[in-house]
Amino acid sequence: MTFEKKCFIAPGEIRAVRFTCSNCRTDVTVPIEKVRDGDVGLYIARRCQCGMESSFDAATTATENLIRFNKLLATLTSTLKGQNIEYSLQVDCPE
Ligand SMILES: [Zn+2]
Repeated sequence: MTFEKKCFIAPGEIRAVRFTCSNCRTDVTVPIEKVRDGDVGLYIARRCQCGMESSFDAATTATENLIRFNKLLATLTSTLKGQNIEYSLQVDCPE
């Protein structure tokens, strides 16, 4: 008999979003409430303390899409509340 372990997370389990500089690995963790209610674009199109630009320039489609994705992610729990569907994302299981 073979067993396969699968791990899922529900939107309500997401606590924060993390942005990490690819140059120096400094990260900023933004609570999901702040992603929902704040200007997440400030964290996306920013210059790191090491001087590296994020490369997400303001007003580009890629930047707008990433901002929109984060906003949708942050409101997913309330979008799904009361609906007859449970939604979850499959992730790699911790070792
Ligand atoms: Zn950096």
